[in-house]
Amino acid sequence: LFAGEVTFVKGVVAMDGLPPADRAEVCFAGRSNVGKSTLINALTGRKAIARASNTPGRTQEINYFALADSHYLVDLPGYGYANAPLPKVEQWQRLLKAYLSGRASLRRAFVLVDTRHGVKAVDEEIMNLLDRAAVPFQVVMTKADKVGAAEQGRILDQVRGKLAAHPAAYPELVLTSSEKGDGIATLRAIIAGLV
Ligand code: GDP
Repeated sequence: LFAGEVTFVKGVVAMDGLPPADRAEVCFAGRSNVGKSTLINALTGRKAIARASNTPGRTQEINYFALADSHYLVDLPGYGYANAPLPKVEQWQRLLKAYLSGRASLRRAFVLVDTRHGVKAVDEEIMNLLDRAAVPFQVVMTKADKVGAAEQGRILDQVRGKLAAHPAAYPELVLTSSEKGDGIATLRAIIAGLV
C-alpha cells in the first residue's frame, strides 16, 4: 500500500469540500506539535509531503492524501493551540467534530500522543467524541526516542489506564519514533489491514 506513490489530493476547510466517501480512509489526529506531520512523512516515505501542506494558513485544513490511488490518508488539524484566536478555534473544532462523527468511509482514527506527555485533557475530548460517534480509534505514541525506558513505562501505564474508560479505543498502543523509524512498519501494516 505504501510502496506506490502518495499524492496530496486537497485541503478541506468545510464538510462540503470533502471528497466523495467512496474510498476507505484512516485519519490522524493529535495536539499541535505532537509530531503528526513528521509521522505522516515517515509513513509515506515522502520527506515533506505533510509539511508541504502545512504552510501557514493551511495548517488548519483537513488534508487528504491518496495511497496507491485507492485509499485516503487524512491529516486532521492539530488541536490544542494555545495562541489561536477563539473564533478560529471554534471553527476548527466544529469541522473536526463534523468530520469525526459523520464520515462513513472512515475505518479508524489514530490519535497521536506524545510519549513525554501522555494523554492530556484535549486528547480526552477527542476520545469522548470518537466514543460518541462510535469511530474505532487507536493511540499512536510519538517521539518515543525522547523518553527513557522507566519513564516510558510509567506514561504507557497512564495511557492504558485512560483508554480503559473509552469503549471505542483499541487497547493496543503503537509506539513510534519517526526519528529512529521505530513502529513505522507496524503502523503501515495496521493501515494496510484496514483499508
Ligand atoms: P505536528 O505539529 O504534530 O505536525 O508536529 P511536527 O511533525 O511538526 O513535529 C513537531 C516537532 O517534533 C518537530 O520539531 C519534529 O522534528 C519533532 N519530532 C517529531 N517526531 C519526532 C520523533 O519521533 N522524535 C523526535 N526526537 N522528535 C520528533
